[in-house]
Amino acid sequence: MSAIRLQNLVKRFGSFTALKTMDLDIGDGEFMALLGPSGCGKSTTMNMIAGMEEPSEGRILFGDRDMAGVAMGQRGVGFVFQNYAIFTHMTVRQNLAYGPRMHGKPKAEIDRRVASIADLLQLTPMLDRPARGLSVNILQRVAIGRSAILEPAIFLLDEPLSNVDAAFRAVMRTELKQLQREFRQTMVYVTHDQLEAMTMADRIAVMDHGVLQQVGTPLEVYNNPANVFVARFIGSPGMNLLPGKPSESDRGLVVDLGPLGATAPLPPSLAQALRRHSGDVLFGFRPEQASLEPAGPGITAPITIVERIGARTIVHLGDDETAMKVVVDNDVAADAGTSVVVVPRLDTVRIFDRATGTAIG
Ligand code: ATP
Repeated sequence: MSAIRLQNLVKRFGSFTALKTMDLDIGDGEFMALLGPSGCGKSTTMNMIAGMEEPSEGRILFGDRDMAGVAMGQRGVGFVFQNYAIFTHMTVRQNLAYGPRMHGKPKAEIDRRVASIADLLQLTPMLDRPARGLSVNILQRVAIGRSAILEPAIFLLDEPLSNVDAAFRAVMRTELKQLQREFRQTMVYVTHDQLEAMTMADRIAVMDHGVLQQVGTPLEVYNNPANVFVARFIGSPGMNLLPGKPSESDRGLVVDLGPLGATAPLPPSLAQALRRHSGDVLFGFRPEQASLEPAGPGITAPITIVERIGARTIVHLGDDETAMKVVVDNDVAADAGTSVVVVPRLDTVRIFDRATGTAIG
């Protein structure tokens, strides 16, 4: 059974619709990320699950229980926000023990839970330090621990890592995933950071402008984006999308990339789907799924910028209309001002309807 079901969920603030008819099933023990740019409706969705906001339409079920009219405190959810809420006049231990104490748990159990959560979140060495004076990083870890210690069946986290520094964020990604494995909680995690969603979530719900765009595993949304929004939003850099037209050739159906003076071949399954389609398309391929060759068949384009990012190199090519990026090993020859041939990996090519932005095939 699903742990959480959102059915035809709508949220309006006055005449503004922040969430448009959202349907989503979150499995028991699943780590679901709500991912999208600022203002897309992630927090609004989360606040309705938590019971902080009332839906304008639709239903929220926990198991088979309708949550309409069930107060936040009665929903059995743990909630961690972007801004940690902890008691600075208490020690870390007192902060962690606070919830179980309020719930009247016996001392021995509180001690056991504090020790276990502190161990998991690497807080053991600072258990007896006052919270005041600890770094933002550590305070957020305490805030997560304070909520997790109650072992809620449903754990809601809204951008919990957005105020911590980058190195710490990487550590916390692993810890949060571990925490969820350990407690087998259903976790809903709001973020605008696709790396966080990709690395931690079992499935990702990608949102934009109050509309759920796609739900899938990290690899599904990466490999098979449902539309150009998802194609651009997932991946760093996002998918390359070149304007083109389907065209018959002696190699079968290809995409004529007009401004680039090239035609690109298609995997057979896509060629078949595209035959049933009319109109202009966008030819999509991931920057990591193409090679740069000195010559030969492919898409010839000038290199504009060579960006060294450490482990790999991002090569920018083309002009405004034909801009693309290819991520290559550092030893691949690439000099700004020269022309090279871009060869997308055929099986990873994706095609989108140019008018609607929807994936074809
Ligand atoms: P962010 O990461 O910036 O919080 P988000 O995806 O979580 O973005 P929401 O906070 O859910 O977005 O907001 C969605 C839209 O609803 C935004 O345009 C926001 O301005 C609007 N909104 C949210 N709460 C209210 C409110 N109480 N009254 C009016 N508009 C609101």
